[in-house]
Amino acid sequence: MTPDPAASCESSPDELAEEVARLRKINKVLMDRVERGMDLTGGAYSLFQAATVLEQKVLERTGALEAAKESMERANQDLVAAKEAAEGALRTKDEFLASMSHELRTPLNAILGAAESLIEGIQGPVSDAQEQSLRIVETSGRHLLALINDVLDVARVGAGELALHLEPVFGQAVARASLNIVSGAAHKQGVSLTLVDSGEDPCTLMADERRLKQILVNLLGNAIKFTEPGGSVRLEIVSDPVGEVVRFIVSDSGVGIAAEDLDKLFKPFVQVDSTLSRRFEGSGLGLSLVASMTELHGGSVSVQSELAEGSTFTVSLPMLIEVGDNTPSERVPTAEAPQQAAEAVASSGSGHTVLLVEDNQANVDVIAPYLEAKGYEVLIAMGGALSIEMAREHQPSVILMDIQMPGINGLEAIQCIREEETDRRTPIVALTALAMPGDRERCLEAGADDHITKPVRLRHLGETVASLLADC
Ligand code: MN
Repeated sequence: MTPDPAASCESSPDELAEEVARLRKINKVLMDRVERGMDLTGGAYSLFQAATVLEQKVLERTGALEAAKESMERANQDLVAAKEAAEGALRTKDEFLASMSHELRTPLNAILGAAESLIEGIQGPVSDAQEQSLRIVETSGRHLLALINDVLDVARVGAGELALHLEPVFGQAVARASLNIVSGAAHKQGVSLTLVDSGEDPCTLMADERRLKQILVNLLGNAIKFTEPGGSVRLEIVSDPVGEVVRFIVSDSGVGIAAEDLDKLFKPFVQVDSTLSRRFEGSGLGLSLVASMTELHGGSVSVQSELAEGSTFTVSLPMLIEVGDNTPSERVPTAEAPQQAAEAVASSGSGHTVLLVEDNQANVDVIAPYLEAKGYEVLIAMGGALSIEMAREHQPSVILMDIQMPGINGLEAIQCIREEETDRRTPIVALTALAMPGDRERCLEAGADDHITKPVRLRHLGETVASLLADC
């Protein structure tokens, strides 16, 4: 029985080392015999030969494996170092932008103040020509201040420093106030401005009034800017008690946006089209802020547009649900929630662990207690990197993955989790705040099993989780 050298080449380095040691022993015995002049039978001699060949091959193979392992470990270390450097650089950039914008505002305020006092004639009369120049100083200064404020807000969001002051607000009141702010610009541009309020009752929602106004003024300002004189801009407010959201819909009859540019819209510092940015001034930060602030509210924003056909932006924010009672969804049975689905949710939780990945505390505060009440054990990961670790360590029954997160985003986290999985496939539900065309496909492609748009309707979320667990 001659060992087959080739067969051992598939073994692990440890097994190979053992094999080498065993063969060395055999070799030694045989060599001793040779040295002592003992007669080797034909069989023993061919065994000796085979063993020598095998030992050689095993040594080569072990060496190659170790070299490969070492170079992989080195590459891994390089990757970790590169990632840490990138994250550090990002934080430094945001901190730098935040402090720089802050520092820039102080001298700018002095310039604006001085210009104003000169225009007012405090230091004596100025000629018409001088006043005209001073007005340019003032207008340009105000524009610059607005840009700096946008940069500051974007940096604050990136550094995780922007906090909301949430309180109950009336949607209609904020909508009207926002329209007032932009009415001057609309008049100047020759664009008509209308408020459409389809509901009879006031829409109450939990929001930071200043930030909500900022969202609406930004969208309305854009709509006016990109609409030709004679065109129209409207703000519609819709309350949807079934979906538990209040929608603010800003539509215009303006230039519209090409389909291929839609996904660039919400990225900071990106102007959709250079010809447009030449025609329309702006920092390219407004929509990025709209998206971040909507998400901080636990809401979502979507856009529909066609070139020359105008654009429609929809911001959906969670409706204020009265406390002290069960959520309205459980009190109001509707056609889209069949009884058996509701029952499945009620009984499905026990024994299952849900890993909730979400960087926004407000969303965690809403979703986690709901799932716990349904009998799930809820684990929380406040970021993408942590979620990969926790998925590996706790092997949850299902993962709810926010997509917009700083650092490692939800799509990247899903891909990592899928790559690490070997024998099981954890159901993953993606939660997105930016409802863009193709989003669902992108989430499924990354490895998600389902996709839900924020603001999350708790009952719908519960049903989705229950049905994914039932399919397992
Ligand atoms: Mn998020």
